[in-house]
Amino acid sequence: LATFLNDLGCQQAATEQQADIIIINTCAVREKAEQKVWSYLGRLQPMKLSRPYIKIGVIGCVASYKKQEIYNRFDYVSFVYGAREELPALQEYLADLLTQMETTKQVFYGKENPGFTPEEKASLSSLILGQDRDVKCVVEKLRLNFSDNRSYPSIRPSSPKATTDTQGDRNLGAANFVIPAEAGIQVPSLNRSMINIMTGCNKYCTYCIVPFTRGRETSFAMSAIVERVRQDVAAGAKEITLIGQNVNSYKDPETGALFPELLRQVAQIPGNFWVRFMSPHPQDMTIDLFDVMAAHRHTVPAYLHFPLQSGSNRILTLMNRTYTIEAYLEKIGWIKDRLPDAFISTDLIVGFPGETEEDFWATMHAVETVQYDLIYSFIYSRRKYTKAWAMPDDCPYAVKQARLDVLQKRQIEIAAQRNALLVDKMLICLVEKRLGRDKLLGRTEGNIRVVFDGTDDMINSFVRLLIQSAGPAQMQAVY
Ligand code: SF4
Repeated sequence: LATFLNDLGCQQAATEQQADIIIINTCAVREKAEQKVWSYLGRLQPMKLSRPYIKIGVIGCVASYKKQEIYNRFDYVSFVYGAREELPALQEYLADLLTQMETTKQVFYGKENPGFTPEEKASLSSLILGQDRDVKCVVEKLRLNFSDNRSYPSIRPSSPKATTDTQGDRNLGAANFVIPAEAGIQVPSLNRSMINIMTGCNKYCTYCIVPFTRGRETSFAMSAIVERVRQDVAAGAKEITLIGQNVNSYKDPETGALFPELLRQVAQIPGNFWVRFMSPHPQDMTIDLFDVMAAHRHTVPAYLHFPLQSGSNRILTLMNRTYTIEAYLEKIGWIKDRLPDAFISTDLIVGFPGETEEDFWATMHAVETVQYDLIYSFIYSRRKYTKAWAMPDDCPYAVKQARLDVLQKRQIEIAAQRNALLVDKMLICLVEKRLGRDKLLGRTEGNIRVVFDGTDDMINSFVRLLIQSAGPAQMQAVY
């Protein structure tokens, strides 16, 4: 969407206050993330009142299954586009919306308009609120005269890429866009690019709402994905992430080729960049993926995010995770065999319904066995529509919290030990941004933060850094 809106002539705004369009990309996996959408939308209302021409849209998984609720609760939300809807339809809508918005903005601030008194502005604001989904209606009601010969900057797609792009959305969080005063704005060079290679999921883990919000698996054409990566690398992208709910069940709809072949083709694109992927499902992990990773070390970082969720086979069955801890560990062995210095991260759920002390310690045992560099760990979040919603759960929240504390405390120790092994080593890092006045922030192949003294011209480039000290979440280095 960022690329698409850039192609329409928009620029990304630094803050919501500067934005004409605010698009909120939502995640429904955890209840807390969903709650944040409601409160964030609530906080946007004053902004909409003071600048009624702005547009607020909600996309992603919450938009998929709470569309009507969003429209009912927030009448100033202009569009809600669910994860299962057709992207070209949203693109067409946005292109039209920009034309309308530009008109409304000119009504509010334009030179032809003599200006509104504060009272008129207030009434315009309240008029637009509640009728926001049809801007033309607002204009007609105000009976404002437009001069027809006024020329607006062109905001129609300027390149074929804008209309033929079917690669799905980018993970933007809340992204804010400004319609510029002039057309012809350059697409800013990307340093990171996230490209959907497939969407949906057929796995139906019992705790997960994704199959209900995103639907069944659909893979995008490999030729289009490879071309998209080529374009983004040419535009300056230094890190490409191929994303999907279950990347390694990817299957090219045109040729039937699988994910390792896609990764191989992407890794062979000329350029100085890294390609990552997330997330694979342990059941679908095949050994040839690690062969591809090992053969393309220059481009594919030795990094694997490999979600385990629980170390207990009993809980894995209740979760419908379709693998055992033994099978999972065997696949961890594959990567350690081919890429001995690989960084491995995982997702873990603590306190799934029915989890006993014994089950929890099975998870701890897995953590000790694998020695992850990083874990993303959460207390189970109960989600409506999922099978686990109805599972009996007699474990008090305090017990779950205590288990999570134990897990996270131990992981901090493990990460500190793992990172300490990197001291005095030279590592290649991708420099991300300035951190404070003197420091730069980079990331290693394993996505670990590295802080060092450097100059702005290093940002968005690969540098070799000597690691001097390391903590559990960050390392210090010299160039
Ligand atoms: Fe959800 Fe399981 Fe599919 Fe992952 S694999 S998206 S957790 S249903």
